[in-house]
Amino acid sequence: MAVDKMTPVISDSPNGFAEVERAISRACRDAGRERSSVTLVAVSKTFDADAITPVIEAGQRVFGENRVQEAKSKWPDLMANYPDIALHLIGPLQSNKAKEAVALFDAIHSVDRASLCEALAKEIVKQDRHPQLFVQLNTGEEPQKAGIAPADADAFIASCRDVYGLRISGLMCIPPVDDPPAPHFALTAKIAARNGLSLLSMGMSADFETAIQLGATHVRVGSSIFGKR
Ligand SMILES: *Cc1c(COP(=O)(O)O)cnc(C)c1O
Repeated sequence: MAVDKMTPVISDSPNGFAEVERAISRACRDAGRERSSVTLVAVSKTFDADAITPVIEAGQRVFGENRVQEAKSKWPDLMANYPDIALHLIGPLQSNKAKEAVALFDAIHSVDRASLCEALAKEIVKQDRHPQLFVQLNTGEEPQKAGIAPADADAFIASCRDVYGLRISGLMCIPPVDDPPAPHFALTAKIAARNGLSLLSMGMSADFETAIQLGATHVRVGSSIFGKR
């Protein structure tokens, strides 16, 4: 056996993870915040169990996926080995997948329309499972992007509560790629504050430090941890 010739297979991901962890700690320190006030959602979409496992082994427990089907196909097996994993849905959710989403996810970041509220409310009661819910804002008012326009946010959040009985925990936003993100994060934080919402899902690989400065409680970081998709 040529043991001495074997090169260990080292994925990039534990290094990426360690670097992101360090950057989050630094950003928290700079902002005068506790590290524990920011949850890193490691976005593992398109990556398989072999890429994800080293990041779990390195200590990460919160993961984000953008498709219900993909999450269903890879996470139940991983969660059998690591039961303390929390899964967050960060992508658009079709109402007819609300049942599967409520069963699988611990948080849903993409609540963005009345029909989805209705479907989620029904499943939350039926399954007695209560994922954290974030309303997604379309702060750049981009026609191709999901989310509630800022001008409609207060009314939509109120209707989530009053019409559908949903407990909304926070807001999520994805700034337009070509805009400086800070004003979008600041607007999201302002709308959350005036609606009594304490959680802010904002910041991705390119801008999570800025988001932490502006109050993000959840940063959704994919490529900086796992590499290019
Ligand atoms: C893919 C994705 C992310 C992660 O993006 P990176 O740039 O890879 O960090 C964050 N949020 C949402 C909604 C995503 O779809």
